[in-house]
Amino acid sequence: MFQKILIANRGEIALRVLRACKELGIQTVVVHSTADADAMHVRLADESVCIGPPPSRDSYLNIHQIVAACEITGADAVHPGYGFLSENAKFADILAAHNITFIGPSGDHIRIMGDKIEAKRTAKRLGIPVVPGSDGAVTEEKEARRIAAEIGYPVIIKASAGGGGRGMKVARSEADLVVALQTARSEAGAAFGDDAVYIEKYLEKPRHIEVQVFGDGAGRGVHFGERDCSLQRRHQKVWEEAPSPALNAEERAHIGGVCARAIADLGYSGAGTIEFLYENGEFYFIEMNTRLQVEHPVTEAITGIDLVHEQIRVASGGGLSMRQEEIRFQGHAIECRINAEDPRTFTPSPGTITHFHTPGGLGIRVDSGVYSGYKIPPYYDSLIGKLIVHGRNRVECMMRLRRALDEFVVDGIKTTLPLFRDLVGNADIANGEYDIHWLEKYLADED
Ligand code: ADP
Repeated sequence: MFQKILIANRGEIALRVLRACKELGIQTVVVHSTADADAMHVRLADESVCIGPPPSRDSYLNIHQIVAACEITGADAVHPGYGFLSENAKFADILAAHNITFIGPSGDHIRIMGDKIEAKRTAKRLGIPVVPGSDGAVTEEKEARRIAAEIGYPVIIKASAGGGGRGMKVARSEADLVVALQTARSEAGAAFGDDAVYIEKYLEKPRHIEVQVFGDGAGRGVHFGERDCSLQRRHQKVWEEAPSPALNAEERAHIGGVCARAIADLGYSGAGTIEFLYENGEFYFIEMNTRLQVEHPVTEAITGIDLVHEQIRVASGGGLSMRQEEIRFQGHAIECRINAEDPRTFTPSPGTITHFHTPGGLGIRVDSGVYSGYKIPPYYDSLIGKLIVHGRNRVECMMRLRRALDEFVVDGIKTTLPLFRDLVGNADIANGEYDIHWLEKYLADED
């Protein structure tokens, strides 16, 4: 087991990882920017190292500084959290070259999944259902027309190097296609330095359903069921739940089994998420995230398993702590992402939190790095906390969520709490009837 883990992140996820390390009796080091000197994870860590000024590229993305912090403090492993360097293959390789364990998959697996064309090809080879489309990159107009005619309009053109919902263009007819191909290629080249794009069928009303997987790196793989993350705004997840209101036990076991076998065949190590669009009973792979996700706590709530403990165990060579049959699903969980944003315009609302009171009681979990008197710096993303509620079934979970939202107090800044108070009273949400466009339509109708 590791002696000392360096946490290369900030905010709620840094604290989340720190808690797991404390439980396992592992020493912690955190790195932070000058803007985060007062952050909770810095206060609670055994050691902290300031690695630079506020801009992420000068601190949280500065590989040399982080490696130096490991050497100075004698950390033998790094947990990257999510975002920042968590899916940076070069970072994983550099740590390996310094004999420091990256708590995540190999650099090669990160690289494969970071390239969407390569990821899709790999998924298909491993027996994961994919969206019908081109086999690889498409450059010629003629070829694009042929493929689109074959799969049928509408189609979507996506950048192989894309991410964060950027670099996608929908074409509803052949006339749209030519323009879409050109703009997608030039935008991808400018944004990602790689103009490779591919074509796939555009699904009109899918849900976003993702499967949590784990591999031991030696040919074993398990799944922890799915999460439904269809409630999104601008491709950013807002509300996540497990299990999905749209799946039955048979579908869950089937897609879970497909994913677990794929992970085993790939020889993948650690936590991963295989993301699908789901429409008319069919799953279509869109991408794989090779890290812990923001929404992992809903899976923890319904399985009772600490996924960060498991990541650390697997990375240290201890293997998976359970077999598939030992992973049982109990009840229902919902996570609300609480952002420091105006709940109507979604403009960031940094500043000082004058009062912070979190809900409590059975089935309530709050993951947050903020506290009363904390000043939110303007440099980073606006997530200030996550409320995760668990109940014996979805109805109980929703009742408990409504109560918890009423109790939650954040004064001094604007937050998205009022949005969740509206959503919890909405009939479509109560019935679990929503797709990936539902929230944007709802917000547009409110205006
Ligand atoms: P990113 O890595 O940028 O998040 P994804 O491939 O995960 O890109 O796609 C992001 C979002 O774009 C999806 O959640 C979905 O809303 C939409 N999308 C992607 N592919 C399709 C498709 N084939 N049909 C319909 N919507 C799609």
